[in-house]
Parts: sequence; structure tokens; C-alpha cells
Amino acid sequence: MKRQLSIENLLQIFNEWIKLPSLKALHEPCFKGKEWEYVKQCIDTGWVSSAGQFVDRFEQELSDYTGSKYAIATSNGTAALHISFLLAGIQPKDEVLVPTLTFVGTCNAIHYCSATPHFVDSDQMTFGVDAQKLVTYLKEITQIKQGVCYNRLTHRPIRALCVMHTFGHPADLDLLCEIADQYHLVIIEDAAEALGTYYKGKHVGYHGLMGILSFNGNKIVTTGGGGAILTNHYDIAKKAKHLTTTAKLPHQWRFYHDQAGYNYRLPNINAALGCAQLEQIEYFLKAKRALAFQYQQLFANIEGVNFVTEPIYAKSNYWLNTFLLDAQYSHLHTDLLKNLNQKNISVRPAWDLMHSLPMYQQAPKMDLSTAESLANRLINIPSSVVLGEKYVTYNSI
Ligand SMILES: *Cc1c(COP(=O)(O)O)cnc(C)c1O
Repeated sequence: MKRQLSIENLLQIFNEWIKLPSLKALHEPCFKGKEWEYVKQCIDTGWVSSAGQFVDRFEQELSDYTGSKYAIATSNGTAALHISFLLAGIQPKDEVLVPTLTFVGTCNAIHYCSATPHFVDSDQMTFGVDAQKLVTYLKEITQIKQGVCYNRLTHRPIRALCVMHTFGHPADLDLLCEIADQYHLVIIEDAAEALGTYYKGKHVGYHGLMGILSFNGNKIVTTGGGGAILTNHYDIAKKAKHLTTTAKLPHQWRFYHDQAGYNYRLPNINAALGCAQLEQIEYFLKAKRALAFQYQQLFANIEGVNFVTEPIYAKSNYWLNTFLLDAQYSHLHTDLLKNLNQKNISVRPAWDLMHSLPMYQQAPKMDLSTAESLANRLINIPSSVVLGEKYVTYNSI
């Protein structure tokens, strides 16, 4: 017999489970390694800004860890997305296919290129772009002319498909890459939430032309603020490094810039934090997996609540744990969020969908009913590493 879905029953689970009030945040960083030592080195040596050994080292370690040939560190994930769209050849007035179920930074980066997001629906199991629905839609509304995919309704080129790996669960990349090939679209992965996530054994972020990571304070590994571009393509990597470092040509003493670049390089002091964090990633991943397993057991017994697990093809990082209410309970969504937050349990809904925001309301879109349904039913629950720590030992790293 399952227990009824009620605020009392959920509260009881969270309170039994999360004993200390300080542990109830949605996602707190975990600093247990050499963070202080490395940051102190920056301060002691004076290398705190955009040059210094930790930035190069962080890039090398990201490349080693993910298996991406190149990694270019940036000041944040949105900056990495901006540069990625530019290097994908996004022109003013182009359209970029992007899920409506994403963080606003994904769409803003498209907007910074004077292009427009074109919203696509999400799959209800993986929360990633729904490949089947996308291919049916593209068949209907596009036309290929001289190797360029055009939206027949707006007459604008659709140049790229941005794939986001929601809460650390990878989208179905094989199918999406196939569709992108067929429609001459560049694939850019927004893997901001997905460091430590694998699709069919290969780390996400470089299945297409390039992808990005974020190291914001709430991500699995943090640099305070930061991001990275991943790519297997030498030309892209070289241009990304150039564009993110004000397009300055290397020279002993001259300041010569060959185009209007961006000041998007990650500072050394942030990279120092990142190096220390990366040393602990296996431990973070173990703790998160253990926590996800616990949540799965705890919620299995509550009527109408489904804990979200990794897709069969994936090894997810379980960055944010999520449960979905059955459709007949969606009317409880707001009440649950309100009441649990009042009791200091930091539960959160998904982002307000991008096509509902004032600046993107006019953007082209397909039927978005699955994303709408998901947004009305999903709840992210406290997912800090510290909550899973009792099931793993720190020495195991
Ligand atoms: C965190 C995040 C980003 C990038 O955020 P920054 O704060 O700019 O590093 C982009 N997309 C998604 C889906 C994210 O969750």
C-alpha cells in the first residue's frame, strides 16, 4: 500500500532524511580539497587574473577528464555559449533550435548573436530535445536550399540545434546528431549541468561541433563563476581561445588585436578553485549517485510521485535530483513548492519556460505541450554532495 501524496508525508521524508537545517539548500558547493591552498598560491604569487598556470592546468585537466581534445576556459557558461554560437557561424536573423525547457542563458547567448531562438519540445523521459517530434516538425516546416536549412514560414536560415542535458541527464545524442546531419544543422551541446555525465560511454559536450560546461556556484564543480568550451576540432579551439582573449595576437610587448574580441577568459584565481574541485569529482559523483539511490527508495512509497532516473543509454551525474508528479496531481505543484519552501526545504520548479518570457514570446516555436506538462509537474529537491556523503568515504577518491 502506497502512502498518500501530501505535504505532511513529504515533509516527514525530508525531515527524517535531512537532519541539519543547513543541509536543506538545493545545491551547495563542497570544498574539501586543496581549494584554499591553490587560491592562496595565486594571491601569494600575484597571479590572480587572466594569465597564470592554473588556467592552463584547468583546461588540460578538463580535457583529460572529459576526453575532449580541447577545453577553453571562460568567465562563465553563458560566455562559452555566446562564443560557441559565433563559431558555429550563427548570423544575425538566423534561427537556432533550442529547447524551451532550459536556463535563460542558453537563449540569451543566441540573442547576443542577433539571432533568434526557435523553441522545440522536450522528451518526457529524458527531459532533453524530443528527437522524434523534432524530425516530424522539421520535415513539415523546412526546406533545404544549397546546403542551408530554411524555415519555410519565416524564410530564415535555421543554422544550429542546441541540445541541453537537463539536470545532468543526457539527451539522446545519436538520434539528434543524425537529424542535425540530415538538416545541415550544427550541433552545440549545452552541457552546463552535465560535467561527469556520459552518453553511451562517452562524456557529453563534444558529440557535435562543440559544447559548453558551467562552473557556477551551484554546479557540480565550481570555480565561483566560470565555464568552458569543449571541442575535438583544432580550428574551433584556436578561434575560441582567440575570441575569448580579446583577439590579441601574442607579442612580447605590443597590444595588437585583429578583431573585436571578448574579455571572456577565466581568471587564474577561479581556475585555481577549479583545479582543486576537479581533483574531487569522482567523490562528488559517488555521493550524488548514492543520494539519488536513497531518494529513489524514499519516494517509491509515495503515491503519484516518480523519481527521475538516468536514461538507459546514460550514466548521469545526478546534478539535481528531480521528481515528477503524476498528471492527476499537477494541481498540487504550487502548494507543494510553497509549503516545503516555507519549512526551509529548498525545492524548486523548473525554469519558467523560455517561450513564456517577454523577450522570447514572439520567437518561432513548435507545439511545446510536453515541456509545458513537465514544467507543471516537476520539482527539484535538495541535491548537495554533503547529503550523499554518509554513503561514501572521502578516502575513496
Ligand atoms: C548554469 C547553466 C548555464 C550557464 O550558466 P552560467 O551561470 O553563465 O555559467 C547555461 N545553461 C544551463 C542549462 C545552465 O544550467
